[in-house]
Amino acid sequence: MLHHNTPLLESLPLSERAGRRVFLKMDAMQPSGSFKIRGIGHACEQYRARGAQRFLASSGGNAGLAVAYAGRKLGVPVEIVVPETTKLGARRAILAEGATLHIHGTSWNDAHVYAQAMMRPDDRYIHPFEDPLLWDGHSTLIDEVVAAGVRPDAVVLSVGGGGLLCGIVAGLQRHGLHDTVVYAVEPEGANSFAQALAAGKVVEIQHLTSLAVSLGARRVTPRALEVAAQHPVRSIITTDAAAMTAIHRFLRDHRVLVELGCSAALAPIYDQTIPFGDAQTVLAIVCGGMNTSIYLDHLEEAW
Ligand SMILES: *Cc1c(COP(=O)(O)O)cnc(C)c1O
Repeated sequence: MLHHNTPLLESLPLSERAGRRVFLKMDAMQPSGSFKIRGIGHACEQYRARGAQRFLASSGGNAGLAVAYAGRKLGVPVEIVVPETTKLGARRAILAEGATLHIHGTSWNDAHVYAQAMMRPDDRYIHPFEDPLLWDGHSTLIDEVVAAGVRPDAVVLSVGGGGLLCGIVAGLQRHGLHDTVVYAVEPEGANSFAQALAAGKVVEIQHLTSLAVSLGARRVTPRALEVAAQHPVRSIITTDAAAMTAIHRFLRDHRVLVELGCSAALAPIYDQTIPFGDAQTVLAIVCGGMNTSIYLDHLEEAW
């Protein structure tokens, strides 16, 4: 097991905003900085057991870092391809894990195509959200919450490609939490799940305009729609500006710095825009993320 059992904190400031108890699952404390190591760590362990000799990925963000971490821990070489736009801090973090970094092209798609072309027979490409093994790994978050004695009536999380959503719903169902409502938050400009729900099918977004890069999946996994048909899942839309404010509020309240991809889920709790109804216990997934810095100015300037 490559992930950690992270702290579960009761948040007095968020409980006061929400008018009910809010618990925080602090996956910002994972060794790779985000929840991604749950699913990616599990998938990498399984693929190594099945004979994978090398892991490939084309993410310069939290998924790439999780693959690099998993490879180092498992003793499996990792090749990561990222586009030229990838920030220096992300490059450094991946290199520090001992992965080989390739810079190719100007978009994620260029890097992705290049990574596919590098594939050898015993290589395994690790997808950031589209893999049942990832969803299994993510579901351990709910195992830990239930083991800590908390059975939430509502869960708030952010959605990019929908891998976290699929894993959390699987975990809730495994523990008989069939009525626990999942609030799936996306910012305007990266709302591929909201659009898919509205259309009843996966929709490809042409222009991603949100600065929450970890949520910038053009299309969600089709599994996210199946999950939403089998479990109470509600789409909530926020904005980058609200998510930016939530970074500051959360830093003030809990002294932990998260990225926009994570604070997007906290913003509607602070802003009181989630219709919690008679839910008494809310679980907010503090999914973490490396795309942040105490010099938040670079994000603010981008407005
Ligand atoms: C990947 C990621 C998300 C979104 O997860 P999906 O499985 O793509 O929906 C949210 N926040 C952070 C910090 C992430 O790294």
